[in-house]
Amino acid sequence: SEIATMMNIPVTNIISTCMSLGMMVTMNQRLDAETLTIVAEEFDYTVNFIGAEVEESIEEHVDTVEELELRAPVITVMGHVDHGKTSLLDHIREENVIAGESGGITQHIGAYGVQLKSGQKIAFLDTPGHEAFTAMRARGGQVADIVIIVVAADDDVMPQTKEAISHAQAAGVPIVFAINKIDKPHANPDKIKEQLSAMNLLVEDWGGEIQSHNISAKTGEGVDELLEKVLLEAEMLDLKANPNKNSVGTVVEALLDKGRGYVSTILVQEGTLKIGDYMLAGKHSGKVKAMFDERGNNMKAAGPSTPVSILGLDGAPQAGDRFHVFEDEKEAKQIAAKRSQLQREQSVRTQRHITLDEIGRRIALGDFKELNIILKGDVDGSVEALTDSFQKLSTDEIQVNIIHKGVGAITESDVLLASASDAIIVGFNVRPSGNARLLADNEEIDVRTYSIIYDAINDLRDAMEGMLSAEI
Ligand code: GDP
Repeated sequence: SEIATMMNIPVTNIISTCMSLGMMVTMNQRLDAETLTIVAEEFDYTVNFIGAEVEESIEEHVDTVEELELRAPVITVMGHVDHGKTSLLDHIREENVIAGESGGITQHIGAYGVQLKSGQKIAFLDTPGHEAFTAMRARGGQVADIVIIVVAADDDVMPQTKEAISHAQAAGVPIVFAINKIDKPHANPDKIKEQLSAMNLLVEDWGGEIQSHNISAKTGEGVDELLEKVLLEAEMLDLKANPNKNSVGTVVEALLDKGRGYVSTILVQEGTLKIGDYMLAGKHSGKVKAMFDERGNNMKAAGPSTPVSILGLDGAPQAGDRFHVFEDEKEAKQIAAKRSQLQREQSVRTQRHITLDEIGRRIALGDFKELNIILKGDVDGSVEALTDSFQKLSTDEIQVNIIHKGVGAITESDVLLASASDAIIVGFNVRPSGNARLLADNEEIDVRTYSIIYDAINDLRDAMEGMLSAEI
């Protein structure tokens, strides 16, 4: 009704226009940006988004090929609980102290750099687990170039291993497997490789392309070779950034320190961050007063792929928030203020996720080519049967992707993945956990549960046929 008043058009006309787009709306419903634009165009109006302008006003330098230089890879570690993620990260950190530095890590800062004996550098995100990885991605901060997935050789490929694999694949980040605990008497690395191959993940010595290495995070055996394989993978990715410009990157974590104020750990991804730079991170801004590495050493500048803790922001940004450096303090402050204001005004999240009911409208808008589904079930048999049936519903127009499937309840991690990948969640004879339900409500993720296979297939087919008929 608000837009009807603005355009001086009867509200019923707006409602019928929405219906022609396959969208049933009420007078008081909020419309998203895309719909507003299309509806306004129908009546020869153009929409000007003041909120959207905030983001667009950040001008980013476009790098030329000559400006780009090689940068270190950024790595994160995932895997099932107790398979050795923390042990591996600890081992790497203790064995690869950057030359000239003394003393241990003074405090956990969420990320650190290591320099290998060969002189090559690697940046590690020390927030192991695919939940942290995907939570950052859901906020727009994709930082890891390569994921190490740890699998204990005295155990099996476990549900969280599978989740980690799906999360890495959904992000399009290459995986290197670390088959761990080979010092244990019952370790059987070949069994792990066989289980991976059964999931269509062929490691190199099984004739595939995925790198893997047998290690012991306890004795250190194989860890150096694992890191060499990681570097090889990085070389193939040809990772480059321009170090000579205003810095851009992502917030890894932030906290309020009693003595020092807000401390933010950030990863510089492009440009070089210097003391005195004016920074905008999420809805906070400030002048970088001090920079430290993970050992508490003072730093004056930090180039691409360098994690640093900084002091000077006027608040704690969230993990995954992007940061930018500005020439002008006023501009950074203004955008931060606008963002805060916008957040206060918007009781509704701006980013809506796909729902089954909405598929028809989205395809009518012409930008919807893939339907991502996360599928959880009570037994393997039904999960496989549904996977097959869902995939068969793919058409030339819409590809159905099962981005993750597994046996067990719908977890928070599933919801995070759905949020980061704009997916719907289908549960067969399983329900979301209490926390997953809350998170799904918050993130506006469509969770559908079924107990009859045909109902699930029919619903999806109906939704997809809806989108096909709406296209005509
Ligand atoms: P996370 O939950 O994946 O971070 O696993 P942790 O690193 O905490 O390891 C879980 C347990 O396995 C700890 O008791 C470790 O000491 C042990 N562990 C980790 N790696 C190895 C290994 O290579 N060999 C042996 N024998 N034990 C290991």
